[in-house]
Amino acid sequence: MSATANEHRVGDVRILSLIDGYATEPAREILVKPGFPGDPWNAHADLLNDDGDLVMTMGAYLVETGDRKVMIDAGLGTVDNDKFHGGAMLDSLAAFGLTPADVTDIILTHLHFDHVGWCTQKGEIVFPNATVRCHADDWAYFMEGPDAAPGAVRKLAPVTPHLELFDTDGTIAPGVDVRHAPGHTPGSVIVVVSSGQERAMLIGDIAHCTAELTETEWEAVFDVDRDLARRTREALARELEGTDTPVAAAHFPGLQFGRLLAGQGQRSWTFG
Ligand SMILES: [Zn+2]
Repeated sequence: MSATANEHRVGDVRILSLIDGYATEPAREILVKPGFPGDPWNAHADLLNDDGDLVMTMGAYLVETGDRKVMIDAGLGTVDNDKFHGGAMLDSLAAFGLTPADVTDIILTHLHFDHVGWCTQKGEIVFPNATVRCHADDWAYFMEGPDAAPGAVRKLAPVTPHLELFDTDGTIAPGVDVRHAPGHTPGSVIVVVSSGQERAMLIGDIAHCTAELTETEWEAVFDVDRDLARRTREALARELEGTDTPVAAAHFPGLQFGRLLAGQGQRSWTFG
């Protein structure tokens, strides 16, 4: 693992971190611990800026496996407002000598706006050769159901001719598998990257910050089904702790990989 800060190796597979921008959210409003006495953020001040905000990196990953270049999520897009600041995705690709035409597949971990931003711009497809894939439950929820999100419909309707939905766990490309991990959204997925005996996990928004993996009592206001999201996180944390599996989430600082370590009654997280 780890050649540079933005490039990671899993056996023969290379994973690039593509930074698009960042967002700031008031931590105490978006991540809460029901029933916890006092302020649960007191123990995690190191994760916040001086204003008590969680600064979340926005972006995507690119998995290079054989002749496939598989983007995991599609960033925030050109959004730039008081909370969300995107726009750097194509420059990040270019820094690796890549253009949008090189991308063969896009796997969307879920369909929130900060994960689909570069699928289209002003109604035009950005990655002309990419098959776009996501779980059928998220497509139904965000694009077709009673709670359909107009922003998602506007952003994603143009990719429909290039869309392939899946509703079972399985292999998308050599060494790239998806696993249903519902709760944050109905069709949220984890991507497992493997090569030989090595593997890594890209966990999307199963956790927005490392504290959600070390203490799984947190609830995130973004989670569509908070109870299911918490159970999904807990199961993942139990699976990961002590395995030394490199893990990257969609919004951890700098899109760095890290590991969840088992401890005496308290898990810990280490980057690198
Ligand atoms: Zn997100």
